This record gives sequence, structure tokens and C-alpha cells, in this order.
Amino acid sequence: MSTSRCETCGGDLVEIELTVDGSDLVMRSCSTCDTRTWRRDGEAVDLDGVIADISSAPTRYKRSISN
Ligand SMILES: [Zn+2]
Repeated sequence: MSTSRCETCGGDLVEIELTVDGSDLVMRSCSTCDTRTWRRDGEAVDLDGVIADISSAPTRYKRSISN
């Protein structure tokens, strides 16, 4: 497991992993400058796309985070 660094300021990133509709999502949030990046299945995605995916599958999303 590698340490992630913020691309903007080089600070430490906090990773939050989610599973949405069968896809692995990782949100990386910088504790220094609050930059957030999202990845799905290892590829960078736009935040707008992530929100659209989550809102299109609300039941599965809630089930995933309640486990
Ligand atoms: Zn940063």
C-alpha cells in the first residue's frame, strides 16, 4: 500500500473507498488544501460523473455503506 500525495500541494491524502453499483470507487481528499479526486476501477473520473452514478443507484449505494 503506497502513500498518496496531493498533486496540488504535496500534502497527505486521505483515501475513502466505496463500492457503487459493482464498481470500486476511491475518493482521495487532501487534508491541507481540500483538493478531492475520484477514481473508479483505477481510472480518474469527474466528480459530476460519480455523483450521477451514485444517484442512479441509490439503493445499492446505501446497502454498500451499511455493511
Ligand atoms: Zn493538497
